[in-house]
Amino acid sequence: MLGKLPRRAAIIPGMKKVMPYLALVLGVLLPVGVPSTTAFAEGLPSLGEASQVDFSPQMERKVGEEAMNDIRLHEPAYIDDQEINGYLGRLVGKLAQNLEKGSQQTFEVFALRDPMLNAFAMPGGFIGVHTALILAAQSESELASVLAHEVSHVTQHHLARQIGVQQQTQMASLLALAVGVLAARSRPDLAMGAMVGGQAAMVQNQLSYSRDFEREADRIGLQLLERSGFDIRGMGDFFVRLDKFGRIYENGAPGYLRTHPLTTERIADMENRIQMRPYKQVVDSLDFHLVRAKLRSQEGTAQDAVTDFSSQLTEKKYVSEIAAHYGMSRAWLRDGKPDAAEREVQVLRRLKANHFMVETLEAEILVKKGDVPGTIRVLRAARNQFAGEYAVSLALAQTLLDTHRYGEALQVVSEELQSRTTDARLYLMQSKAYAGLGKDFRQHRALADAYFQQGLIHGAIEQLQLAQKATDGDFYEQSQVDARLRELRARLENEKSGQRQ
Ligand SMILES: [Zn+2]
Repeated sequence: MLGKLPRRAAIIPGMKKVMPYLALVLGVLLPVGVPSTTAFAEGLPSLGEASQVDFSPQMERKVGEEAMNDIRLHEPAYIDDQEINGYLGRLVGKLAQNLEKGSQQTFEVFALRDPMLNAFAMPGGFIGVHTALILAAQSESELASVLAHEVSHVTQHHLARQIGVQQQTQMASLLALAVGVLAARSRPDLAMGAMVGGQAAMVQNQLSYSRDFEREADRIGLQLLERSGFDIRGMGDFFVRLDKFGRIYENGAPGYLRTHPLTTERIADMENRIQMRPYKQVVDSLDFHLVRAKLRSQEGTAQDAVTDFSSQLTEKKYVSEIAAHYGMSRAWLRDGKPDAAEREVQVLRRLKANHFMVETLEAEILVKKGDVPGTIRVLRAARNQFAGEYAVSLALAQTLLDTHRYGEALQVVSEELQSRTTDARLYLMQSKAYAGLGKDFRQHRALADAYFQQGLIHGAIEQLQLAQKATDGDFYEQSQVDARLRELRARLENEKSGQRQ
């Protein structure tokens, strides 16, 4: 049996729990005697004070990782879909390639299912994008423009620089700000009030970037967008559209404009820069269209999705015919009609749609139809054809696990682990495969690795202790586990004394 996930205080388990957690962060981690609200009370440092930022990149990364682990474990809006997050990651990767030489910044991008138009950056290069924003983008360049702007907030360390200079040696103040960013992402007004009552205005100041930071992120983001081969008009178009949405929204601006205030000056600035550049035609990738179709097929009810894609197809109201049939197939599948879904895949084959997302879709349809050998055949072929496509490997490993082919699952997982040593999902799958094979020692050791990667040190220690007790590990494996256990206990001690400082 696999253990349940150990419980741990969550950073963002939904609005209800934000308040106590924030109190915990500020009350426990800040030194005694510092009123909790002073973390937000400092004025914004001017751009000239950048040299006074004391947060190391490692510290920012650690804060971001902690927030990210909590999102993965506790945030219901988090979309655990490698096809979608992988695409967003590739898009940011394309931008990151064009950062100034010597930039060591890494990024992780993830989608959240949320109807509010928003995107946000956390310390350490973690960027969240709401599905509504992905769906509102009318071109890949538009989506890339928002990401380029967020990337620039990250590389310029704007979030850390928003924190008052006196607070900058304390990780707690950065963590508190990260909590605030997450709480504010969907209901800014509510989050402010709930978190700090009377101090709402000050938090608001801290959470929305200053005009100078916005101008800097626009300027650097635009350069990045252009160097990366996108249509820079995307940025102006998209921000103007966001502004229009903001006027239609009943409760004021979309989330994005609350944290990234859009002034007429900003728009004029952007338009000036854009007008001086030559026009550039950029074709959107098929990835962009397929990811949007997948997200759209998950909106509303299954019936809504069927109606939506049916009318797109009958009225020929689509940009990509392949994406329209792909979305239609997904809508049928969601509506419990795998045969209709399969017919759309046949259309995709006739259209010569050559994309791994078509293969994983067909595999899902075959699973629904109970054709396990067919599913595995499709995924194995896709893994050969689209070598290195992680989403395909994950789908294959999961299917093999689900159908009790543990040895084969282990093989796929081990191959992936060679290049993805920090992915908790793979260790979880590995643990399940070992459990299926009755290998007690390895099951617990793999689960310890999974917990460790999720930041659940106590859970990892518990699993290593179970591995120690298992009777099927050899001498070398056992001594490795002993050493690992000592290392984790020392780490836990270090963290405790670090918090006491
Ligand atoms: Zn901004």
